[in-house]
Amino acid sequence: MSAKHFVIVVGAGPAGLAVANAMSKQGHEVVVLNRDIKFGGLAEYGIFPNKHKLRGGLRKGYWEILTRSNVHYFYHFNLLPGFSTRSFDMGQRVAVIGIGDVMVDIAHWLSSRKRVAEVHVIVRRGPAERKYNPKEIRAVCAYIDQESLDKEFARVGARMEAVGQSPEKVRSEMREEFTKCEPPESQTQMRFHFLSSPKRILTDAQNRVTGLELEDTKLEVKGADTAAVGLKTYYSLPCDSVVFAVGDRVDEAVGLPYKNGLFVTNPHRTQNDPDDSLFQAYDEAAGSILPGVFLCGWARKASEGLVGVAKRDGEWCSEVVTRYLADKQPPTASELSQKLQQLETLLKGRQPDLVRADDLIALSQMEQQEGQRRDIEEFKFPTSEDMLAAIRKNKPCAKVPASR
Ligand SMILES: Cc1cc2nc3c(=O)[nH]c(=O)nc-3n(C[C@H](O)[C@H](O)[C@H](O)COP(=O)(O)OP(=O)(O)OC[C@H]3O[C@@H](n4cnc5c(N)ncnc54)[C@H](O)[C@@H]3O)c2cc1C
Repeated sequence: MSAKHFVIVVGAGPAGLAVANAMSKQGHEVVVLNRDIKFGGLAEYGIFPNKHKLRGGLRKGYWEILTRSNVHYFYHFNLLPGFSTRSFDMGQRVAVIGIGDVMVDIAHWLSSRKRVAEVHVIVRRGPAERKYNPKEIRAVCAYIDQESLDKEFARVGARMEAVGQSPEKVRSEMREEFTKCEPPESQTQMRFHFLSSPKRILTDAQNRVTGLELEDTKLEVKGADTAAVGLKTYYSLPCDSVVFAVGDRVDEAVGLPYKNGLFVTNPHRTQNDPDDSLFQAYDEAAGSILPGVFLCGWARKASEGLVGVAKRDGEWCSEVVTRYLADKQPPTASELSQKLQQLETLLKGRQPDLVRADDLIALSQMEQQEGQRRDIEEFKFPTSEDMLAAIRKNKPCAKVPASR
């Protein structure tokens, strides 16, 4: 490689780190700016805490990328809300809306950690349209009230048959999915409510949740898929908490062109594969792309797929960025180091706790030691403040641990 460009990756999730990987391998100077202290994004902060193997494998690869001499990692708190440290109070009768893997994770957390009495899964369409991965459901299938599920199939069976679905076949498929259930850790009862669309959260005079108003739906065939259509008949489900495990949106406050939950990308397709336009940020008012600004992963398509999908998206994006840089004049070596210096000075000026890869290495060592001391598989400092306090206490930091 001859040209050495200065590439800033915003976000150290699977997609951003795939870009950092590709760009640094090409020899560019890469800065990774992250909102969370630790890298990994939702693969670190979002996936269920007991997925040690998945997280461990990912971390190993990410450490390799972030300790390259031409990669500079900075945690920089940008005043966005600290979601990961918010407390989420739950009652005993929780309605969870959606039937994908996020619903499964939330039901898992509610049953094994919160030990709630009841989890009610609200599904706009029917059981044939369930979206969870059959392997994932094993974490919670022991909690499913099978008798109530049979009754639910009887309740919605005619509406399934109306679009050619066989309730018996779908029920037996679900039964097969429930054969390798993990042992239950509580008495939680999990019940499904199919063909029910949430309309309104019901509250009392103190604004506490008392229930969920649901509209009955029917299925309509739409091409190869089905859609839910409201029947204008309503019923209410008593509950004290409601969790939406559907949909997602990007952060409007970031400052990129935004519309309908997404950052706007170039509507004009190119002939390239992957298509550049899908990754180019686009200013609709000006009718032009934002030169040098690209989107990938969940920033490009909120809530799309698993870690592997985000990684692949980052790799495609890197190809588009490489094409973009091909005819750009690279900065000189001194311009590059000046840019890096300027950025560091700016970040330091805004925030005293600038966390770098070295600090994370020290943090990782401290967490490992604490895990060993407590004899548990993994110890994590619970809040950003705890992590920062530990990092401050330990500066200057230690060497890269072999087992990391
Ligand atoms: C509850 C849940 C469970 C999941 N379980 C699994 C699972 O078991 N297996 C699996 O394969 N996938 C799972 N996924 C999906 C997987 O986590 C995502 O596919 C993947 O993390 C998306 O990667 P990303 O890089 O696009 O975004 P993210 O992982 O969201 O990473 C975004 C990064 O950007 C940073 N950031 C955000 N805003 C800013 C900003 N303004 N400035 C700087 N940095 C910023 C964040 O700190 C974060 O590090 C799960 C997702 C969720 C929500």
